[in-house]
This record gives sequence, structure tokens and C-alpha cells, in this order.
Amino acid sequence: MISIVIPCFNEEQVIAKTFSRLQTIFQSSKETAEVIFVNDGSSDRTSEILWSFPQSSQLRVVPVEFSRNFGHSAAVLAGLHAAQGDSVAIIDADLQDPPELLLPMLEKLQSGYDIVYGKRVQRKAETLFKRATAWLFYRLLRFLTDVDIPADAGDFRIMTREVADVLKREINEQDPFLRGLVAWVGFRQFPFEYSRDPRADGETKYTFRKMVRFAMTGVLGFSNTPLYFGVYLSFISFAVAILSIFYFIYLKFNAFTVPGWVSIMIVVAFYGAFQFLFFGITGAYIARINKQVTNRPLFVIRKSKP
Ligand code: UDP
Ligand code: MG
Repeated sequence: MISIVIPCFNEEQVIAKTFSRLQTIFQSSKETAEVIFVNDGSSDRTSEILWSFPQSSQLRVVPVEFSRNFGHSAAVLAGLHAAQGDSVAIIDADLQDPPELLLPMLEKLQSGYDIVYGKRVQRKAETLFKRATAWLFYRLLRFLTDVDIPADAGDFRIMTREVADVLKREINEQDPFLRGLVAWVGFRQFPFEYSRDPRADGETKYTFRKMVRFAMTGVLGFSNTPLYFGVYLSFISFAVAILSIFYFIYLKFNAFTVPGWVSIMIVVAFYGAFQFLFFGITGAYIARINKQVTNRPLFVIRKSKP
């Protein structure tokens, strides 16, 4: 059985379509599925609609209702916890990720992978702004972090029971960045290329503010590099301070200048340098504390002999 986790937030316009497409897929397949709709505190008719979906032996419907809107990552995690299948898929409710790909992705998974993730090669009808910010965000994140987070991969993916269990067990952090964590967990991953469709109906639930928060979650969760910037800035300030000393000596002997300003420059640059340096050192300790409280395991074992 495959578990399909679908986070839904105010998706009344689209979820019936999503469900009927899943029905069509699994009617003609020998694979059985459970569809876990996690209703993330929708204020429209989403709840009513999803409780009305018919149950069948091919396709079981499992509604999970949040008490309020807790956000996309929380909804996906709740779905992972509810999932019982031998493999677990995550897919958006809005049909941007074609559900027809689930079975080919499952096949790929069974051919010897632990995670098969959707890699977007084309994003139809997404605004230039969205594509540009997404492009920039993934490059920046990859630059800042050691974890190999694939660019242009969303949450559309399918994983084995084993990987789902590791994620369930190891994600203890507040504000988890799922895309990063799935990359971090390792295992044998396969990028499954597909072209992302436009939203079938309704509007994006990711407002600009939510996008910024999402980007911050990614950077804060996967990089301590910004905390060390102070150290680099201190190097620049030290260089300025030392060059100023030479300039001071040169002026003293070779030219007339307003007395005092170069010596003040030297003092200011040295003070600046020391301040940046100590910010950087404090940052290094904060980075350590951050690692400790995030409490990720030091390793994940794929296989061993009992
Ligand atoms: N979603 C959610 N909670 C939220 C925001 C979004 O569960 O607070 C769901 C939403 O219903 C959809 C998925 O997350 O299934 C992706 O959202 P959306 O399609 O609006 O984002 P976009 O594709 O525009 O990035
Ligand atoms: Mg979408």
C-alpha cells in the first residue's frame, strides 16, 4: 500500500478534482492507496468536502483535521505520522504536481531507491517573480549550507517506510525545513524530472510573507555561516587599520594634512575590527548552541548487520 499525504489549506475549489484524479489512477492499478488529507485549519468547505469522499478497498481516505492553521510543514509531518503504507508520497493539493506520476515514481523507488523526488524542469504559468526568487533562494541556500539540498525540488516526493520512520523519529526541531531535512537524511535518492503544471484552481496559499518566512526557515535551519560574518568583517577592518598606519606615517613625513584625522581613523578602524571579531567569536559559540538544541543525530545508518 502507498500512503499519499496531501496538505490542504482552503482548497475547496480543487480537492474534489485532486481526489477524482487519484481515483482514476488507482482504479486501473493493482496498487492500493490511502490518501491522507491533512486539513490545515481551512476556513472554507475543504473539511466538508473531504469527509464526503467515498471509501473503497483500492483507495482509503484518511482525513486529519488540524485545530487551526499550523502551516505546510506541520501538515506534511502530521501526514507522515498518520501514514501506514510501505511507501509514503507527499503531494500538493492543487494538482501542480501531476498525481499520475506517483505510480512511475513508485516503480523507480522499487527499482532500488529510498527517496524519489520530483525535480522541476519546467514551471508552467508561475510568475516570473516566483521563479526568479525561487531560483535565487535555492542557489543562496546551496551556497550557505553543507547539506546538498537539490535546487528546484519541492516537497513532491515518494519515500520508503524506512525513510519515513527516520524522518518521524529524528525531526524534533521547532520550525523544521522539510526539504532540507529530506536531503540531510541521505539514503539513495533519485531526482525524477517533471514539468510543474499551473495550479488547477484557487489561489496560492503562499503569500509573500509566508515565502520570506519559509526562506528564513531554510537558511536558519541549515546554515550557521551568517554567524561567522563578524570574523570576516574584522579581517577587513584590521586591514584598513593597518593600511591607515602606513598612510599616517607617509603623511607625517611627506605632506601637509589636517592634524589628527588619520590617527582617529586608526583608532576607529581598530575598535571596529575588535568589535567585529568578538561578534564573530560570539557567533561561533551561538552556532554551537544552535547545533546542540537542534539536536539532529550525528549520523543515520542505512544498513548494518544485526
Ligand atoms: N498549504 C498548507 N498550509 C498552509 C499553506 C499551504 O497546508 O499554510 C498547502 C496547500 O493547500 C497546498 C500546498 O500546501 O496543498 C502548497 O501550497 P500552494 O500551492 O498554495 O503553494 P505554491 O505551490 O504556490 O508554492
Ligand atoms: Mg501550489
